[in-house]
Amino acid sequence: MTTVPVDVDSARRDYAALVDRGLSLDITRGKPSPRQLDLSNELLTLPGEGNYKAEDGTDVRNYGGLKGLTELRRIFAGALQVPAAQLLAAGNSSLELMHDSIVQALLSPMPGAGRRWADEPRIVFLCPVPGYDRHFALAERFGIELVQVPLTGDGPDMDVVERLVAENPAVKGIWCVPKYSNPTGVTYSDETVRRLAAMTTAAPDFRIFWDNAYAVHHLTDTEAEIADVLALCAENGNADRAFVFGSTSKVTFAGAGVGFLGSSEANLAWWIGKISKRTIGPDKVNQLRHALFLKDEDGVRAHMRKHRELIGPKFDAVDRILTEELGDSGLASWTKPSGGYFISLTVPAGTAKEIVRLAKEAGLALTPAGATHPYGDDPEDRIIRIAPTYPELAEVEEAIRGLVVCVRLAAAQTA
Ligand code: PLP
Repeated sequence: MTTVPVDVDSARRDYAALVDRGLSLDITRGKPSPRQLDLSNELLTLPGEGNYKAEDGTDVRNYGGLKGLTELRRIFAGALQVPAAQLLAAGNSSLELMHDSIVQALLSPMPGAGRRWADEPRIVFLCPVPGYDRHFALAERFGIELVQVPLTGDGPDMDVVERLVAENPAVKGIWCVPKYSNPTGVTYSDETVRRLAAMTTAAPDFRIFWDNAYAVHHLTDTEAEIADVLALCAENGNADRAFVFGSTSKVTFAGAGVGFLGSSEANLAWWIGKISKRTIGPDKVNQLRHALFLKDEDGVRAHMRKHRELIGPKFDAVDRILTEELGDSGLASWTKPSGGYFISLTVPAGTAKEIVRLAKEAGLALTPAGATHPYGDDPEDRIIRIAPTYPELAEVEEAIRGLVVCVRLAAAQTA
C-alpha cells in the first residue's frame, strides 16, 4: 500500500491538542477488567461453610494431593488437550509453572537428558516473534540465550525452526503460544504442530513450552482448534517433548485462579518428584471452588461467552477506529484477532519507540516498544502491542484515537 504523506504542521497541532487534554489512560497489560472479574464473584462465597470434601472424599483443607483435584483437571482436560490423568492442577499461575520447569531442568536431568541444564555450556531457546515479553524475561533471567524466529500466519516459521534444532544441540526449547497468540492472535496450523512434534532435534532433551494461555478465549463464533501436541509428539516417538501450560487467570480471577501443567507420564513423574520438595500440595480449597463454580466444560464455555460480551466491543472499537483513521494511510497495519487478549499494531520502521514516547508524554501508557521481542529489541522498531481489555470501552476509544495522533506525528517527523 502506498503511504499518504502526513502534513507535519497539522500532525503537530493535533498532538499539542492531545497533550492539552491531560489524559491518563493505560493500555499496557493484558488484564481482565473489574467487570470481567465480577463475572466470577460467586467464587468469593464458595466452597461455602461446611463444604470441604472433593468428589473422592479428600478433605481439601488438609495437606497433600500434588496432582490437584480430579474434578477440576477433568473440566480443563479437553480444552488443554491433555488426558486428565496427565494434567496437574497447581497454584494460581501458569507462569510460575513455566519458571519452575526451567529451574528443575537446570537442577536435575529431565527424562531423555544426558545431564542437567546447569551443566550445559550453553542453552538456547527459540522465540517466535512477536511474542510474550514474560517468556523472554524468564528465560533470560537464567542465562538462556534467546534466538528470534519469525512468526507467520501459521505459527513459527518451521523451516527456520527445523534447521536450528537439527544443527545445534544447545537449542533446548521453544516458546509457543499456539492459540490466539500474544500479541498477534495467530493460531498455529495443524501442519505447524505436526512438524514441531515430529522434527529431529540435536538435543535429546529438547522441550516445547506450549503455553495454551488462551485455549478458551474466543472472540468470534468460530472457535479456533489446534492439533493435539501431546498426542502428535507421542505418535512421532517424542512423547516427552512437550510441556503444556494453561490457567484460569483470564477465566476467573487473574490473581486467584488455577494453573495447569500437562505432559507425558515420564515428565510428570520427574516433575512431581522434584516439586514434592517444594510443596506438600496445592491450594485445593481454591481448586474445589473453581470446580463447583465452573461445573464442566460447558460451564467454562458459557462463562467465556460472558467475557466475550464484555471485551468483544473493545476489540471491535480498536479495529473500527484504526480503520477510520489509518485505513487508507498506508502508515500502519494491525491484527484482527478472533480470540485472546491483544492486537498487534505494525507502524513504519523506526517509529514504534517514538510513538510510545509521544503517547507517554500525552498521558497514554503503552507497552514499551520492543517488549514483543527478546532482549526488548525489535530490530525494525515496528511493533506496538495493544491490550484493550482492562479500560472501559470509552477509554479504549479515547486511547486509540490518541495513539493514532502519535502514529501520524511520528510518521510525519521521519518522512
Ligand atoms: N502466558 C501468556 C501467553 C500470557 O499472555 C499470560 C498473561 O498475559 C500468561 C501466560 C500469564 O499466565 P498466568 O496468569 O497463568 O501466570
